[in-house]
Amino acid sequence: MTGHGFRADQIDTSKPHSARMYDYFLGGKTHYSVDARAAERVEAVWPDVIPWTRANRAFMHRATRWLATEAGIRQFLDIGTGIPTEPNLHQVVQQAAPASRVVYADNDPIVLAHAQTLMLSSPEGRTAYIHADVTDPEAILAADELHATLDLSEPIALSLNALMHFIGDDQQPYDIVQRLLAPLAPGSYLVLSHGGLDPRPGLSDAVTDLYRSSGIHVQGRTLDQVTAFFDGLELVEPGVVMPHRWKPESERERAEAEKTNLWIYAGVARKG
Ligand code: SAH
Repeated sequence: MTGHGFRADQIDTSKPHSARMYDYFLGGKTHYSVDARAAERVEAVWPDVIPWTRANRAFMHRATRWLATEAGIRQFLDIGTGIPTEPNLHQVVQQAAPASRVVYADNDPIVLAHAQTLMLSSPEGRTAYIHADVTDPEAILAADELHATLDLSEPIALSLNALMHFIGDDQQPYDIVQRLLAPLAPGSYLVLSHGGLDPRPGLSDAVTDLYRSSGIHVQGRTLDQVTAFFDGLELVEPGVVMPHRWKPESERERAEAEKTNLWIYAGVARKG
């Protein structure tokens, strides 16, 4: 499927994976007991992880729909896609603009194993999947699947949702984002959501430690640190905010989210 040499039977069920824990938090079924147990341990100290995950997913839907309808974007590159959960990004954009083309990328073999679902494009559009790691932007940008699907001379929306908090400072996260944006045409967009730091004493450290004890590096960042991912770009209103405050479509949903402690930041910005 990808030529990258990974097979579905290489899925490691001996330790938790972030994609499968995310699926558990979203109420999905594509995870193993090891993931459910790790997710339950996180949920026990941080029950807001469930509304956090849902608010993040809802932001992805709204930002993507806004890009397709208001910004006229027809090409999307979504890295850290996650296990398919309806509606997936291509379903959101192709509902608005059926000829849209979408390239997905993730580094988890379980996402690869389910990638067929991501490739059920509208007949007018096209989707592709790349098994790849965001820490190697050049491999993503050079992939045949990307070039067969997207035209780099036209604007592309790059989305990195709930991904960069898995990239430690030692892995140059800001440099990675700049290297991904560099070859994109003027008029392209960056969509990014990122875990924040909960101000309640000890909570962020407890959650970080739980993930790390499962072998998953996770690192929340401050609002300023998340905003720095958008350096050199023009932020779309209302800027970098908690995801339920980014162009809410449902007042009820926004009000529900306000009752929780989300500590996640999200924004959309345009490359001039
Ligand atoms: N973007 C989706 C899913 C977020 S879950 C959403 O916002 O709803 C985070 C995803 O990032 C998981 O699927 C995980 O496998 C993937 N991921 C984590 N580290 C990665 C890396 N270094 N390269 C590519 N994908 C990664």
